[in-house]
Amino acid sequence: MKTIDDFNFSGKKALIRVDFNVPQDENLKVTDDTRIRAAKPTIDKILKDGGYAILMTHLARPKNGFEDKFSLKNIASKVAEILDVNLISAEDVVGEDAQKKAENLKPGEVLLLENVRFHAEEEKGDKNFAEKLSKLGDIYVNDAFGTAHRAHASTAIVAEFFPSAKCFGYLMKQELEAIEKVLKSGEKPITAILGGAKVSSKITIIDNILPNIDNLIIGGGMTYTFIKAQGGKIGKSLVEDDKLDLALRILEECKKHNVEVHLPVDNVVADDFKNEANQKTVAVDQIPEGWMGMDTGAETNEKFAEVIRNSKTILWNGPLGVFEMDNFAKGTIALGDAIAEATKNGAFSLVGGGDSVAFVKQYKFDEKVSYVSTGGGAMLESLEGKELPGVAAVLN
Ligand code: AMP
Repeated sequence: MKTIDDFNFSGKKALIRVDFNVPQDENLKVTDDTRIRAAKPTIDKILKDGGYAILMTHLARPKNGFEDKFSLKNIASKVAEILDVNLISAEDVVGEDAQKKAENLKPGEVLLLENVRFHAEEEKGDKNFAEKLSKLGDIYVNDAFGTAHRAHASTAIVAEFFPSAKCFGYLMKQELEAIEKVLKSGEKPITAILGGAKVSSKITIIDNILPNIDNLIIGGGMTYTFIKAQGGKIGKSLVEDDKLDLALRILEECKKHNVEVHLPVDNVVADDFKNEANQKTVAVDQIPEGWMGMDTGAETNEKFAEVIRNSKTILWNGPLGVFEMDNFAKGTIALGDAIAEATKNGAFSLVGGGDSVAFVKQYKFDEKVSYVSTGGGAMLESLEGKELPGVAAVLN
């Protein structure tokens, strides 16, 4: 794997694909700058070498060319503040302004191109557009894990024009190493915790990780498909009736691979899908008619914590309950606490994909786990065993 440490950027222009697709409020103010911060080490190293940094990214989903609200000018001051550099904004992506500003960059300056998605060619992975982008720099650096699962011009196709001058930035390296640990080289026992709403959206991940893990903890809404498949009573809990056979197959596969499956034993049920609904704790396979499973119970939380305490490598994807409602967030918080404790005691913990990231941030677990992935979809696809186009383009 070639990274920026394999290059000396002195006097070179680095064309860096970053992922600054940050959330903004109604006044276009950046509300979470994690992704900008995540790219800083890469940019710092290039500038320290005496190189020039040219940043390209998309922001949101513009569909009709230039639109003011999608302009990177709206986030430029935040980028300049976090990177702590003299930031120059280009008026376009591959036009005259970008070319001129790229040519005239002075040491220590950073150029931010306009939103690459102002060109429809970006998402089409257009070769001509990628070639125009490539003319702006000498070395291509991909540090955009969040969009690595897309075969777009700036995330993958452009790499073809740098056959021997392409590499990963530090963020990409970290993300790829974290996945590698969980899927291949992690210290055992390895425990995967899969929560969230549905079995159907996690099945490919389960299939892909089974050969490598020792424990599979299942929680969240998908619990009830497993419990019903085994003959339990689940009341009006979330269930995928067409996935009952699949649930049984997963349990069989786990046996074959010597993976110990840990399902909840008790759960907190409610008589309505509301935070203020009546609630009680019952056995997970004895949910009364008219009640639904919303969160794991205290006995389950202790049981899961014990498994996690004994794990050396931990993957967490998906909440154990309806964490958006305070009254049903306790199981997921207890899980976060257990993972934080295991991490403190030397385990490697990776949190990735969709809602679990929102959750760990909301409850400040992000500082207590080893690694929180910056890419929801890209992380899920990696865990499913798919080769990401943005990664393949740099490796091949
Ligand atoms: P996912 O995107 O598949 O990780 O699913 C996350 C969603 O699963 C969150 O919005 C949770 O509220 C939801 N969820 C977790 N547990 C349950 C449950 N017992 N019943 C219904 N939804 C749940």
